[in-house]
Amino acid sequence: MTTRANPGGPATREWTRADLRDLTTFCGSEGCACTLDEPLSRHTSMGIGGPAAAMIWPPHPDAVAAVVAWVSGRGLRWRVLGGGTNVMAPDRGVEEAVINLTRLIEGTRIEDGLGTFPAGLPTAQALNRTVREGLDGLVWATGLPGTIGGAVAGNAGCWGGEMATTVDTLEVVTAQGGWLRIAAADLSWSYRRLDLVEKAGIGSIVVSTTLALEPDDPEALAARHDELHARKRLDQPVGARNAGCVFRNPAGDRSAGLLIDEAGCKGMRVGDAEISSVHANFIINRGGASGAQMDELIECVRQRVEARSGVLLEEEIHRW
Ligand SMILES: Cc1cc2nc3c(=O)[nH]c(=O)nc-3n(C[C@H](O)[C@H](O)[C@H](O)COP(=O)(O)OP(=O)(O)OC[C@H]3O[C@@H](n4cnc5c(N)ncnc54)[C@H](O)[C@@H]3O)c2cc1C
Repeated sequence: MTTRANPGGPATREWTRADLRDLTTFCGSEGCACTLDEPLSRHTSMGIGGPAAAMIWPPHPDAVAAVVAWVSGRGLRWRVLGGGTNVMAPDRGVEEAVINLTRLIEGTRIEDGLGTFPAGLPTAQALNRTVREGLDGLVWATGLPGTIGGAVAGNAGCWGGEMATTVDTLEVVTAQGGWLRIAAADLSWSYRRLDLVEKAGIGSIVVSTTLALEPDDPEALAARHDELHARKRLDQPVGARNAGCVFRNPAGDRSAGLLIDEAGCKGMRVGDAEISSVHANFIINRGGASGAQMDELIECVRQRVEARSGVLLEEEIHRW
């Protein structure tokens, strides 16, 4: 099964060039940068993806709400992008407007054991801030790329932690441009998934997240942070273009990476797409890989693993 955290918003019609021109004017009046035919390959860690019909960079949550209300009010679709570190975008690009949240970075507040972070803030910056202030809650996210909003939207996790156990509340903009404050306990979280649709509706956007933090010894926190960084550098193809783990770990005690390795896939290549020799669940773009080459390699791995172990791997990456 393919992961689709944000299905693109409800829509009643397709974008036209006139809509895109009007959008550009509207974004100008809201103080949002907007470009047409923006290559997604520039905004995904995999370096893959054709043009988005439009890309919009709201600088604050009110601008997110205004843009969503404008787009949904015209019966058009949108998508949401954080750091692009978990997205596989198609070579043909996407017909929707993409709301890029990476400029939503103002408004961090830490008080009374709660840390509120704007959705576009890199998770690493949120983590560094908590470590500096001697607060635990996010150290498990050491080495996790992307934005804090993207981490919430996909219930990112590593080293035994996950967003589900860290988040206290979310601030969400709905598909109509309305606002919701939702307690984490009222949301359905599962392995690498958050069901935002159930409470907030299709196309809703996390604009900030409040995390529950615990005071801890700053030196111990910093030491744990350094140790996890070192382990990540050993375990993962750091520096190479990729989108993290391609497949979800199946039920049972054998990880997707181990199954792929046992099926003899490490180092396999289709064009510039290559199964990492460091971690078999990572596919690397060696430079000029296309989405089609990635797809071919993914399918090949899936078949080899099924033939060897009987396990049909499901994708973890978010396909657009
Ligand atoms: C080298 C590397 C290592 C990684 N290691 C891990 C790991 O250990 N554990 C792990 O879980 N992941 C890992 N990942 C995957 C990825 O980094 C995380 O899932 C990350 O949290 C995604 O954040 P992002 O901002 O890049 O999201 P994006 O890739 O931009 O978006 C992912 C999905 O979430 C949606 N989305 C993004 N932001 C929002 C928002 N604010 N509101 C609503 N929907 C939104 C998007 O529409 C998209 O469908 C790794 C990736 C790389 C490249």
